Amino acid sequence: MASEMSLRLYGSPLVVTDSGGKDSTVCREIVRRSGIPYEVQHNLTTADAPQTIYYVRQMFRQLELTGVTCSVNYPIYKGQRVTMWTLIPMKKFPPTRLQRYCCQICKEDSCKDRFITTGVRWAESTKRKNNRGVFENFTKDPSKRIILNNDNDEKRMLFESCTVKGKRICNPIVDWEDRDIWEFIRCERLLVNPLYDMGFRRVGCLGCPMAGKNRWTEFRLFPTYERAYIRAFGNMLEAIHASGGKTKWKTAYDVFSWWMEEDKIEGQISLFDLPEWQGENVT
Ligand code: SF4
Repeated sequence: MASEMSLRLYGSPLVVTDSGGKDSTVCREIVRRSGIPYEVQHNLTTADAPQTIYYVRQMFRQLELTGVTCSVNYPIYKGQRVTMWTLIPMKKFPPTRLQRYCCQICKEDSCKDRFITTGVRWAESTKRKNNRGVFENFTKDPSKRIILNNDNDEKRMLFESCTVKGKRICNPIVDWEDRDIWEFIRCERLLVNPLYDMGFRRVGCLGCPMAGKNRWTEFRLFPTYERAYIRAFGNMLEAIHASGGKTKWKTAYDVFSWWMEEDKIEGQISLFDLPEWQGENVT
């Protein structure tokens, strides 16, 4: 149905959005098997692990060899290409659970005026259970959003006959449980992002505020990303001071500590800040 609506209303095929995670793997496969025309797009967040980038590249290469159009969307803010590291000083605030501006710029701003599929699932959060359906008419004004959860939904005809363009979303695996996802992947022998073999349960930006304390593990495995955030926080403080703003943070490490939700007492230092605890002296 989504494919028909995409062709009829938008004059272009359905877009499968691919984050590089397991849910995208399943979406890609069920859309491929359905035999409908489709494209695949990946939103580059610039904070994904190298494994995710290489995995997406590999999958796109295989799909392109079968004639499927694949593309990568680069984040744009205020008319210029940005990365997570340039965005933080521009916004003058680190991304947090409540202020996920990075998601809006790096992920949600893409695929305008297209009908897309996502791998959103109710099992991932209770909020999604209440706010996401099989079909969605995406708009920033919540009062104008239309969400359909089943074929008999009373708004279905309204949704189907609406000819005003905008982003529309189909969530084909919205009611799949985790075990359904893994069973499908294993039974069909699908190749998944190697991060899962490294123990990751969730694949997304490294350091994502939604990952909470798991970020410590992520930064132990990928210390370059920790340094990149700290550098971005330093640039952010410079941008705040240059614009005459004030902040309670004195250094980039203060920002990092606050952002990582550390219960640090002011003036407290880490043992690892001491020279005798660094390098070869540590046993
Ligand atoms: S860090 Fe988290 S909130 Fe920000 S773009 Fe990545 S996934 Fe979205």
